[in-house]
Amino acid sequence: TVFATLSDRLADTFKNLRGKGRLSEADIDATAREIRIALLEADVALPVVKEFVGAVKERARSEEVSGALNPAQQIIKIVHEELVTILGGETRRLRYAKSGPTVIMLAGLQGAGKTTLAAKLALWLKEQDKTPMLVAADLQRPNAVQQLQVNGERAGVPVFAPSPGNGTGDPVEVARASIEEARRKLHDVVIIDTAGRLGVDQTLMQQAADIRDAVQPDEVLFVVDAMIGQDAVTTAQAFLDGVGFDGVVLTKLDGDARGGAALSIRSITGKPVMFASSGEKMTDFDTFHPDRMASRILDMGDMLTLIEQAEKAFDSEQSMKAAEKLATKGGFTLEDFLQQMMQIRKLGSMTKIMGMLPGMGQFRDQLENFDEREIDRIQAIIQSMTPAERENPKIIDGSRRARIAKGSGRQVSDVNQLVDRFFEARKMMESMARGGGVPGMPGMPG
Ligand code: GDP
Repeated sequence: TVFATLSDRLADTFKNLRGKGRLSEADIDATAREIRIALLEADVALPVVKEFVGAVKERARSEEVSGALNPAQQIIKIVHEELVTILGGETRRLRYAKSGPTVIMLAGLQGAGKTTLAAKLALWLKEQDKTPMLVAADLQRPNAVQQLQVNGERAGVPVFAPSPGNGTGDPVEVARASIEEARRKLHDVVIIDTAGRLGVDQTLMQQAADIRDAVQPDEVLFVVDAMIGQDAVTTAQAFLDGVGFDGVVLTKLDGDARGGAALSIRSITGKPVMFASSGEKMTDFDTFHPDRMASRILDMGDMLTLIEQAEKAFDSEQSMKAAEKLATKGGFTLEDFLQQMMQIRKLGSMTKIMGMLPGMGQFRDQLENFDEREIDRIQAIIQSMTPAERENPKIIDGSRRARIAKGSGRQVSDVNQLVDRFFEARKMMESMARGGGVPGMPGMPG
């Protein structure tokens, strides 16, 4: 992600503290210096770096080193808390209108990811039982309307747009009319996509301000590409002065550029980051939680997000059944294994899932090389088995193995390996189940 380098640098800093019984003044100075460099290299804005390092230093000196933590852990805890603070502290939730449709207006530069974001936000709202409508008020860029329509279709959300060729070239009018339309059609949220330019300019600002005045949005969200470096901060300031906004949406957090500027926006503008977008898929989008982001940067893992996503993806009834079967000796079958694997896949790529687990930062390289197709291969092998074989893998003899290998386009040795691993995993799970704790998901082979 855009914070990978920062994560690595901070991890190195903390490593140097490990094993120290107490922190000397010199240790604190050295650590502060390293944190400063890490933040600057990550592109965090200078005033924010100064404030951050100052706060960490002061606390490292003055705070009683709590008995439960060693000095290194104490520093990590302080850095974590200060990161949460610069990211805005509390999670800022969307404010809905008390009556009538909630109006959300998006503003930002062209290419920031506004159109994509509009659809992601709409889908996210739909999943919360809202009935959103998208509005194409970007009449500047050729194809912008069509692009929103395509994205709207992907999200399954209707798009309000001026019909081509009828002369409705005024985005302010389109925005105004969209609110009427939303009332008529009982949409409870209206998301207005406005025009972006390649750079900040006066006409763009004025148009956005006119739309804002016409529709009186409940939330104006400034959409910014986390990969554009220091420009993110200057652009944010320009939009704040020219249009004003209530919250920030960071996009392209999945990128590999230095994303430190994104960390500065909240401190510089005083406006909270509300959402984060991290990929090309419609579902690569979520509420921004400062504490979770700080944990992720410090590689403390992001268990909360993972747990939430797992809850969404896992069919709890099915998991219960699998757990019950585990408790019976020999009850867990290859079919169950396949089902569970497919549920895990619903969470996203293995790389992404593993990345959210604490302490995985050091394996980043391996993770990036993780071959997602390995799971496809396992899936193909199991799917080439008959139901009877999946139910009772003991019957899979030599000739069956040859047939399965052929059916899945793999070698017999691959089939052997999978079956062996399955028996091993089952044995392990059964002993765990007997030991009291029933694991929710079986250990992945490999
Ligand atoms: P707009 O001009 O602000 O409406 O920007 P678009 O929505 O057209 O996005 C510009 C480009 O960025 C498109 O190619 C998108 O697919 C891409 N994009 C948008 N959001 C993300 C994201 O979160 N991650 C990545 N990797 N690409 C994104």
